Amino acid sequence: MEKDKLDPWGTSSIKDYSRLQSEFGIQPVGPLLTRFKKPSPHLSRGIDFGQRDLARVIDAVDGNKPYAVMSGIKPDGVFHLGNKMTADDMIYFQSLSKKSTVFYAIADVEAYADNGLSFNESSKTALRNVADILALGLDPDQAVVYKQSEEMRVMRLATIFSRGVTNNMLKAIYGERQIGLYMSALVQAGDILMPQLPDFGGPKPVLVPVGADQDPHIRLTRDLAGRYGSEFGFLPPSAIYHRLELSLTGGQKMSKRVPESGFTLDDTPAEAAKRVKVAFTGGRDTVEEQRRLGGRADICPVYDLYRFHFAKDDEHVERVYYECTEGIRLCGECKQEAIGLVKTFLEQHHKKREAMMGDAKELLAKSRSYLSSTGKE
Ligand code: SF4
Repeated sequence: MEKDKLDPWGTSSIKDYSRLQSEFGIQPVGPLLTRFKKPSPHLSRGIDFGQRDLARVIDAVDGNKPYAVMSGIKPDGVFHLGNKMTADDMIYFQSLSKKSTVFYAIADVEAYADNGLSFNESSKTALRNVADILALGLDPDQAVVYKQSEEMRVMRLATIFSRGVTNNMLKAIYGERQIGLYMSALVQAGDILMPQLPDFGGPKPVLVPVGADQDPHIRLTRDLAGRYGSEFGFLPPSAIYHRLELSLTGGQKMSKRVPESGFTLDDTPAEAAKRVKVAFTGGRDTVEEQRRLGGRADICPVYDLYRFHFAKDDEHVERVYYECTEGIRLCGECKQEAIGLVKTFLEQHHKKREAMMGDAKELLAKSRSYLSSTGKE
């Protein structure tokens, strides 16, 4: 059987999530669920399936100790559903304690290495991306936003780390790639470990919410945290992994690189509705067969839209699954219901985002002055 490939810059497909445990050492989330007073929809619906050292972050929440949640966005376009998944996790873990701080990197170095996007072009998209995450619920009072290319502490860490890795190490983790991509991986390691520098209060648990395909970055950074532990006191970063959402065209992964595989938070409700209308489903060939055999929700991207994003609550997700697999629900009506939910979400999100543009500018400016006041140039 072909092994699942984890490629943070490609189109990874993961058919068997349990294999990630034996092959890469990702641990299941299940045994820790009872430690959450109110698990997020991602936790209760099994979307967040894996973790590394998540208990350390929960201990910090329970002990009212500082911790960071770190992630970023590659500003190569507008927010898509994959970005929303990571944002939802960040917002949830931020909300668990007043002692949390979200560090949000605008990954312009990676956008340049992977997509050839100039730093100027990245800047234009960044503001809108920040407005998106604020509209989704990020608390700006507990957040720091920065551009990788402008944050010297991140670049310095990347430079220091570059002496601790060899070409062979990077090749073993990422395969043969351009030096620019290897460099952007070291910059990301700098992003993840920066919250533990003395400027930000020193070593602390840092949680990185990611799609399962991003695990190579987590493994590299944990390795580097160990190598530089005696110098900086770094704790290995914790991670929580979410499943990859099925493509609307029927593939294994919704991807920004394949626009028709999903939709963005910039699409009009009508554009998004059109994508859902023609989406692949797990339905049967005829109504008679569907009634008799039931649909296949497990391979259906429309079901993923309910489960990952738009269902009203867990009971709603369970009802869609039950009605589908029992042949009670047909795909046409199921898509119509999903389209209604998507349209309502987008209409509300667009209004909220417009209202947040000023706050986004303010957060970027506030972060810039906070970062420069902590910087020891
Ligand atoms: S009924 Fe809905 S969930 Fe089931 S296969 Fe059809 S579209 Fe997918």
